[in-house]
Amino acid sequence: DPPPPTHPPLLSFQSINNFPNSKMASHIVGYPRMGPKRELKFALESFWDKKSSAEDLKKVAADLRSSIWKQMASAGIKYIPSNTFSYYDQVLDTTAMLGAVPPRYGWTGGEIGFDTYFSMARGNASVPAMEMTKWFDTNYHFIVPELGPEIKFSYASHKAVDEYKEAKALGVDTVPVLVGPVSYLLLSKPAKGVEKSFSLLSLLDKILPIYKEVVAELKAAGASWIQFDEPTLVKDLESHQLQAFTAAYSELESTLSGLNVIVETYFADVPAEAFKTLTSLKCVTGFGFDLSGKYLFAGVVDGRNIWANDLAASLSLLQTLEGIVGKDKLVVSTSCSLLHTAVDLVNETKFDKELKSWLAFAAQKVVEVNSLAKALAGHKDEAFFSENAAAQASRKSSPRVTNEAVQKAAAALRGSDHRRATNVSARLDAQQKKLNLPILPTTTIGSFPQTIELRRVRREYKAKKISEEEYVKAIKEEINKVVKLQEELDIDVLVHGEPERNDMVEYFGEQLSGFAFSANGWVQSYGSRCVKPPIIFGDVSRPKAMTVFWSSMAQSMTARPMKGMLTGPVTILNWSFVRNDQPRFETCYQIALAIKDEVEDLEKAGINVIQIDEAALREGLPLRKSEQAFYLDWAVHSFRITNCGVTDTTQIHTHMCYSNFNDIIHSIIDMDADVITIENSRSDEKLLSVFREGVKYGAGIGPGVYDIHSPRIPSTEEIADRINKMLQVLETNILWVNPDCGLKTRKYHEVKPALLNMVAAAKQIRTQL
Ligand code: GLN
Ligand code: ZN
Repeated sequence: DPPPPTHPPLLSFQSINNFPNSKMASHIVGYPRMGPKRELKFALESFWDKKSSAEDLKKVAADLRSSIWKQMASAGIKYIPSNTFSYYDQVLDTTAMLGAVPPRYGWTGGEIGFDTYFSMARGNASVPAMEMTKWFDTNYHFIVPELGPEIKFSYASHKAVDEYKEAKALGVDTVPVLVGPVSYLLLSKPAKGVEKSFSLLSLLDKILPIYKEVVAELKAAGASWIQFDEPTLVKDLESHQLQAFTAAYSELESTLSGLNVIVETYFADVPAEAFKTLTSLKCVTGFGFDLSGKYLFAGVVDGRNIWANDLAASLSLLQTLEGIVGKDKLVVSTSCSLLHTAVDLVNETKFDKELKSWLAFAAQKVVEVNSLAKALAGHKDEAFFSENAAAQASRKSSPRVTNEAVQKAAAALRGSDHRRATNVSARLDAQQKKLNLPILPTTTIGSFPQTIELRRVRREYKAKKISEEEYVKAIKEEINKVVKLQEELDIDVLVHGEPERNDMVEYFGEQLSGFAFSANGWVQSYGSRCVKPPIIFGDVSRPKAMTVFWSSMAQSMTARPMKGMLTGPVTILNWSFVRNDQPRFETCYQIALAIKDEVEDLEKAGINVIQIDEAALREGLPLRKSEQAFYLDWAVHSFRITNCGVTDTTQIHTHMCYSNFNDIIHSIIDMDADVITIENSRSDEKLLSVFREGVKYGAGIGPGVYDIHSPRIPSTEEIADRINKMLQVLETNILWVNPDCGLKTRKYHEVKPALLNMVAAAKQIRTQL
């Protein structure tokens, strides 16, 4: 393998004008909104369920904002952000600010209220929600603005100004944060029906007047700083996109005069081209990245993970930077908004002291930023620094972290290749002799509906309220029910339904060494939804088999092939907080070895079909094209490691929860799975186009024939239609028939008829072939 990409230290390049001279300059880019115990989530959901009033919701929100501001102020942070709170999403807040409400929501003007706001976010009885998509390479999702040439912008949400004033009334002078105008447009999509040729950036002239109004009001309210988040600057932009930055900030220049302006970038370093454009702005606007005479906000505290900062290392980096930019020109900051980390370690009572000393959630990161700023100014808190140094040392030397055997095994994987010995078409032939499946074989993705009763059984077993015996009995009954149902439906390759799993990553993490699970380490995913990623703190190993007991039990209930069901190493990695003391690929290889052991144990137990889900493989794709090949290489290698040791007759499936893999199709093929099932039902065309373009594909493939995210039951004709469409571009003998994803979130009264129609459609087409 090539060496890991060498990243420059996490820096967010920001430039400010006329910054007041200050010795202890500390800055926080943004802060989590949910609250230490997800207070906002519960307030939102209760409001949506009409169990509480708008006033109740506003009160919870105001209390959260106030406690966050006060917490940062008392920690000594100098540049405290405001307007990073949101009832749903900061991009949607910007849409509201600009009055860019799509016409279907029937908004007629005036200040946008909860009704319109939440209709855009979540849809209402008659209109679906706006589209949601991932925020850069994080697990946060934003609401995608829909803009067309006809749109009339107006200043329709005074939230930024209101929050600035609210903080000021509490005695905290904040830095109001706005999503920058260029990033806003670059993150938008053209409204439905707008021709492809329409340029979103052409709307710049129309939104800048609103930005000017907002800036003027903030100035009038007493703000002396303003922060524009322009994270798209870290992407590979085209020159006309870069020119838009020049145009926008030149246009804003007169309104901004007298204000200190921070342009905030995060998630990666600014590419050379963008850096050049921005430095060239200097002559035009006096607003650039020429570090001499400007201030540098250095994001040395990582906003995306949960590890305590190595304060000594950061301080020495800061001192080096100070040598470059000049004394008093350096502001200590976070690498990005703390939105992407957990909230407060204080609530983690189950962690032991040692593990806790290695960690820092948002509240602790605020303290770190401030202590670094103080140390830089010559007021080092020796006790705090030496406590931190001790924790860093204990993490480096702890036997809980290091497992020599695992390190060695993972290191041995580097530079070598792992592939099954036989090519995929020969393997498929060997497997078919053994499995004897009909053409267009039917299967499902793994989980069956998770009933309240099932959740109760798992909860009570975990809390030791029921015995192991009772638990096994209950799960066994459930598996039996699911097996019998699939036989009745006449599905060809069965699943056990995953009733013993609460989450596809947590289930494995809990059985592997090197993982820890927080009680309250929630991170906002979208709206009121949060995820609680496992923490990988040490070398990963598998003390004992994890799924063999249930899978072989399930296989013993049927003569049909039963799929063993595993989560792949890349997905486990991408959905966890990953250790920062070794490269990501190293951790991924370790997980791959653990999963490999499981694959081989399943094979020994007589499981002939094994599915290794890589639902999140695409999520880890780096933002910058120059880094993508390296990632794909080790990610795909990790997947192959898990199953390179099985015999030809063992059929390896994988599953992916997206269909936009046109750009990574060669990596997907290189995974060398025997069968791949993918989400597809919402975008047939995209997937089909890959194959129309002549990509050679010889493995089995099951593009989902219906959307499991909707309660709607698809008809036999509709499913048959989609299968026929697929058959126009794919060989008959490689096509599988299956739903989009697992059935966990659906009800049995939806799943039964849907699967019945799916099998009927497959059978109908078989007779016609
Ligand atoms: N096997 C998992 C399930 O069926 C896959 C889930 C997923 O892809 N997100 O639930
Ligand atoms: Zn899926």
